[in-house]
Amino acid sequence: MATGKSTAGRLVAQREGVPFVDLDALVEQRAGSSVARIFHERGEAAFRALEREELGQLLDAGQSQVVALGGGALTRRAARLDALDRSVVVLLEAPVGEILRRARIHGGRPLLDVPDPADRIAELLEQRRGGYLEAHARVATGGVEPAAVAEQVAEVWRRDPVAVAAGDRSYAVDFGHGSAAARAAELVQGASMALLVTDSNVAPLHAAPVEQALAAALPTVERVVLDAGEQHKNIQALQRIWQAALAAGADRSSVLVAVGGGVVSDVAGFAAATWMRGIRWVAAPTTLLAMVDASVGGKTAVDLDSGKNLVGAFWQPRGVICDMATLATEPERGYVGALAEIVKTALIGDPELFSLLEANAAAVLGRDPDLLAQLVRRSVRVKARVVGLDERESGLRATLNLGHTVGHALEAQGGYTRLTHGEAVSLGLVAALAIGQELGQTPAALVERTVELLGSLGLPASLEGEPLAEAAGLVGYDKKRSGDRLRFIVVRDVGRVEAVDLPVEGLRERVRRLG
Ligand code: NAD
Repeated sequence: MATGKSTAGRLVAQREGVPFVDLDALVEQRAGSSVARIFHERGEAAFRALEREELGQLLDAGQSQVVALGGGALTRRAARLDALDRSVVVLLEAPVGEILRRARIHGGRPLLDVPDPADRIAELLEQRRGGYLEAHARVATGGVEPAAVAEQVAEVWRRDPVAVAAGDRSYAVDFGHGSAAARAAELVQGASMALLVTDSNVAPLHAAPVEQALAAALPTVERVVLDAGEQHKNIQALQRIWQAALAAGADRSSVLVAVGGGVVSDVAGFAAATWMRGIRWVAAPTTLLAMVDASVGGKTAVDLDSGKNLVGAFWQPRGVICDMATLATEPERGYVGALAEIVKTALIGDPELFSLLEANAAAVLGRDPDLLAQLVRRSVRVKARVVGLDERESGLRATLNLGHTVGHALEAQGGYTRLTHGEAVSLGLVAALAIGQELGQTPAALVERTVELLGSLGLPASLEGEPLAEAAGLVGYDKKRSGDRLRFIVVRDVGRVEAVDLPVEGLRERVRRLG
């Protein structure tokens, strides 16, 4: 409220050559009445309903435009998540005194029609804080020239990040080419020092530019190089980071920057969660899997001898930078395996992504950077949408488990060496579709289409000859089981999945019969 949205919005629209819309003005026009009057005569709830309807229409139109929203327009979480998913939301902030001064000049603020408007502003800001923090970016406007505000807003728009909405733990995922170093330096601003955590394969390839940019931004940067590989995702790796932090004098305002695949980000994220009870961290994933899967959700962990990811924490990063340039050097098997997760994500929530993969399999395998940026962004967006609705994995987030029930069983049957995780997920997807078809939920044509797509992406897509009898016995040995039943994810159509509750024994029998 009164933070300069209309002024900055107009300027952004001008420089980008797109229309500017003031949502309040639009509501007034449609209602044939002023905002103050609608509030007075029909109440705030009626005004909010009108506001939501108009905003929904603007978003449906899918046109590039700049919209100035009222300060309460995104208070409802569903409306906010929808706006975050379908647009770039920038929060303009100003101190209470400044808001009051501007509100007095411009008038027409029914919510401030109270004896002590300064208190009221502070109260509203506090109430709305959790929601405001979910925006893609925040720009301070107090004492800043409107042109400079507009430039910052336009910069966010051009960057086009995906927002991961998690209240005051929210952050944005960025996509670019050769962008990691500059963006990392921006994200660590204000920290006392940085620990750059990477692994022995990634260090010689991608660490130096990030390290140099961090060194230009902060007084101290300490590099920690972990031994590469899943077998090193353990307490010793964690200890290495803690010891380096101690030696470098890292304090509570230090930042940890992870440059590497999912192993590095899982260990480094957990180190950040635990050092001095939690410091901020930034992830710069360098594998396709880490970009599309590990970058959203805030799961961090290390393995124990007895099992993967057994000790960990939910600890959201401050930001994630997906730099497509790093993918050029990723080993082939891991890269192709990650494509199975992208197919899975498309099945869960993005029919266009599915078609994009079908039409461009060769270019995908050729790692075309522009295409990759689209694939990664779309995948991250679906995952962010799901996680935004269900951060702690209570319901909806289970859909992300599509293909993983049988996939995990096959992966475990092969002792985690015969198949990579991605290859196992590919076979798990084929199994989930076939079982869905048997249950009368998945159309036969979709099973065929997916099998063909997986094959064209170089992924295993035939269950023939797979040790299904042995794998069946391992179905259900994961965290998704509850008693003798588990939630199995079936696909009804591309972009439409559903959890069905099945007895574990019955599911095992179905898996045996798939061969
Ligand atoms: P990884 O980190 O082991 O990377 C695979 C290999 O590629 C390693 O040898 C690594 O050194 C090397 N490498 C990484 N980037 C490279 C690059 N750009 N160029 C050359 N070599 C490169 O494995 P991964 O496949 O990235 O991730 C798997 C791990 O991620 C697993 O431990 C899994 O549990 C975890 N994971 C976590 C989440 C989550 O939500 N936290 C999600 C998915 C996977």
